[in-house]
Amino acid sequence: MTATNLKACIDIGGTKVAVSLARGDGLELLARRSEPTVRTGPPEALAVQVMRMVDQACAEIGVSPASIEQAGVASCGPFVRVAGMVEIAAPNICGGIAGPARGLPNDWRSVPLEALLRQRFVRVCVANDCVAALQAERRWGALQGVDHCAYVTWSTGIGVGLCVDGHVLQGKNGNAGHAGHMFVSDNDDALCGCGNIGDVESLVAGNAIARRFGVDAATLLGRAQAGDTVAAARVGDLCRVLGRALYNLVVTLDLQRISLGGGVFWNHRHNLLPQLRSHVTGRCGALTTGCELVAAGLGERVGDYAALAVLDAG
Ligand SMILES: [Zn+2]
Repeated sequence: MTATNLKACIDIGGTKVAVSLARGDGLELLARRSEPTVRTGPPEALAVQVMRMVDQACAEIGVSPASIEQAGVASCGPFVRVAGMVEIAAPNICGGIAGPARGLPNDWRSVPLEALLRQRFVRVCVANDCVAALQAERRWGALQGVDHCAYVTWSTGIGVGLCVDGHVLQGKNGNAGHAGHMFVSDNDDALCGCGNIGDVESLVAGNAIARRFGVDAATLLGRAQAGDTVAAARVGDLCRVLGRALYNLVVTLDLQRISLGGGVFWNHRHNLLPQLRSHVTGRCGALTTGCELVAAGLGERVGDYAALAVLDAG
């Protein structure tokens, strides 16, 4: 196999990093691998991890790492720019933002990414993971042909990508869509990695569920599904907070459809989707009638295709 038309697709989340190689203009993703996101060592550790995983993917299919010239990165945000290059200042990776109470094993305030990848690859495109997922869903998934839409991930954190009038919103630092950090409560048991107390992410994200209720999200959702009334009430409360956030997006931006994915949502989407819909449908009907909440068309692969969409869009 010649490697000249292979591209690295890199998906960086608060819990996992996934890397795969895309061939040419096709949708076939090769040598996919996934690891827990590095959160210890120097701030450069994350970029080092990503480049090692690309090397390992190349070794798996027998191509020279030097022949990979393009890298598309879909990463959780927010981003900050240092000398024009994207660094990741993500609350679920950088422990220095909220301080020791958040419990992350580092004091990073941001991690360099784009500058280090540019030393290795000829072309690097970095985008917010949910903006990239939105582009992937618009191109190949559940948002095809929809000009007023959002992609929302319910995962380690809460992320959003937004499109209005056919334009994908970016913002001054590529951070448009960080609706997970909207304030919704004075609840003081909810410290977000961004430092806020009582924002959406601090209340309902996967990391928040574990810290607030002492069980991980999968366990809580599994108990709710099995009929545990305490767990079901907690899940109902989570859906009320996130459902209201979705409603707020719909009425603010006049959206037609929201596609949802993410590790917390995906395995329990049949239970969660109707509950989320109940907080949108029928409220302020002139603004919400006809707006649909749907599961991501690209399913669990949305992150991989998001990284590919970054290169196509860039
Ligand atoms: Zn926050």
